[in-house]
Amino acid sequence: MSNDVRTNWAGNLTYSAGAVARPGTPEELADLVGGSDRIKALGSRHSFCDVADTTGTHVLLDVYDDGRPAVVVDAATGVASLRAGLLYGQAGTALLERGRALRTMASLPHISLAGAIATATHGSGDANGCLASDVVGLEIVTADGEARTLRRGDADFPGAVVGLGALGVVTRVEMATDPAFEVSQDVVVDLPWEALLTDLEAVTGAAYSVSAFTLWDEDAVSQVWLKSRVAGSSDGQAGDATGERRRPARDVLLDLGARDAPGPMHPLAGEDPAASTVQGGVPGPAHERLPHFRAEHKPSTGAELQSEYLVPREHAAEAIEAMRELGPKVAPLLFASEIRTVAGDDLWLSPFDGATLALHFTWKPDDDAVRAVLHDLEAALLPWGARPHWGKIFVAKPAELAAMYPRFDDFAALAQRLDPRGKFRGGYLTEILPA
Ligand SMILES: Cc1cc2nc3c(=O)[nH]c(=O)nc-3n(C[C@H](O)[C@H](O)[C@H](O)COP(=O)(O)OP(=O)(O)OC[C@H]3O[C@@H](n4cnc5c(N)ncnc54)[C@H](O)[C@@H]3O)c2cc1C
Repeated sequence: MSNDVRTNWAGNLTYSAGAVARPGTPEELADLVGGSDRIKALGSRHSFCDVADTTGTHVLLDVYDDGRPAVVVDAATGVASLRAGLLYGQAGTALLERGRALRTMASLPHISLAGAIATATHGSGDANGCLASDVVGLEIVTADGEARTLRRGDADFPGAVVGLGALGVVTRVEMATDPAFEVSQDVVVDLPWEALLTDLEAVTGAAYSVSAFTLWDEDAVSQVWLKSRVAGSSDGQAGDATGERRRPARDVLLDLGARDAPGPMHPLAGEDPAASTVQGGVPGPAHERLPHFRAEHKPSTGAELQSEYLVPREHAAEAIEAMRELGPKVAPLLFASEIRTVAGDDLWLSPFDGATLALHFTWKPDDDAVRAVLHDLEAALLPWGARPHWGKIFVAKPAELAAMYPRFDDFAALAQRLDPRGKFRGGYLTEILPA
C-alpha cells in the first residue's frame, strides 16, 4: 500500500505523469484543463491497471472547492449533489447526518466517488446496481475547460457516467439516495459447493448484499458474508413484495449446510479481523456495514493485485464450474476470491447490462505469475460473456475489450467530440480510443 501520488495505492504501478496539480477553484481547474495538452483526473489511486495514467498532468481534487457545500440533499427527491473527490465513506457519513444513505457500496469506503463511478465499481446484491447506476447527474470540465452538466435524460448521459476519465474531469455527481437505513452483518463458513451450485438463487437472494469467499480448490466455500437491511429501516427489504417477512439470511445459509463463523472474520485468511466491518448481526449505519473494511483501517492486504470478471448471470453455473476446474492452478496465487451479484443498468461502458455474477480475485503480488494464469482464466470465462473490470488487471487485448460493448463506438465518438485532441487519453485508453 503506497501513499505516494506518483504510484497507485497497491504500488504495482508508477504513473507516467510529469506533474501533479491540485486546483483549488473552478477558474484554476478551467485554466489548467483548457491549457494542457495531456491531463487526467486521478482519484484515490485504487485501480490496479493503468486506466488512470497520463504522460501529462495528474489532477487531484482533494483541495478543490466549488464554493458550494460538499454535500447537498434535495429534500423533495432525495437526490444528493456531492463533490466528486469525496471518498465513499465520507459521503456515507455526511449523508447519514442528513437522514439519507447510499444504496450500495464497494468492499472499501476509501475510494473516491468520481474514480469509482468512472470504472463501474460495484458492491453486491441481486437488486443492487453498480455504484454508477445511482448517478443521475454529472458536472464535468471538458477538454476546452468548459464546465458542463449532464443529467439522466440527456442523450450523452449514459455514455458519460462510466467514462474511464476519458471525457473530462468530473467535479460533482448527483446521486439517488435512500432514507437512512441500518444493516446487520452475519458471516457463515463452509458452505458446501453443491449448495452454491444448485441453490445459487437462495444464497445470493438470502440478504440485501451477499459475498462468498473461496480459493476455488477448497472442499467448501470458506465464508459467506450476509448484509441484511434491518426491519423497520425504510426499505421493504425486511419483507417481500407481499409484505411477508423474509427469513433471516443466516438461517437460510445454515439450512444449506453452512456453519456460524467462530468469531469476527477477515475476508483474507491470516489478516486481522479488526479491519473488517462489524459482524455478529449487530445493526449499524448502512455505510458502516455494506463495505467489508472499516474506513479507519487499511482495506485488504495492500501488497496485492486484483482482477475481476463480470459474467452474465445466466452463465453463472458454467463460470463457477470453470473456476472450480482452475482451482488447483489459481489457489496458490490467491489471497482470496469473492463471488458477488450485481443488477443490470443502461450505461454504455458498464459491464452490467443485465443481472451479473462478479468473480473477483485478490492475488499475491507476483505480476508475471498472475498475468500467466489470467490467460487461462480468460480462456475459461470470456467465452461465457465475461467482461474484465475496467480498473483491475486483465490480459484481454484492447480491441477485444471494445468488442464486448455494443455501444463502444458511440462512446468513442462521444470522447472524440468532447476531447478531439485526446488530452484525457492515457494508459490503455490510448489503445482503445482512436487518437
Ligand atoms: C482494496 C481494494 C478493494 C476494491 N474493492 C472493489 C470492490 O469492492 N468493487 C469494485 O468494483 N472495485 C473494487 N476495487 C477497485 C476500485 O474500486 C476501482 O479501481 C476504482 O476505480 C478506484 O477508484 P479511485 O478513486 O481510486 O480511482 P483511480 O484509480 O484513481 O482512477 C480510476 C479512473 O477514474 C478516473 N477518475 C478519477 N477521478 C476522476 C474525476 N474527478 N473525473 C473523471 N475521472 C476521474 C481516472 O482518470 C481513472 O480513469 C478495489 C480496489 C482496492 C485497492
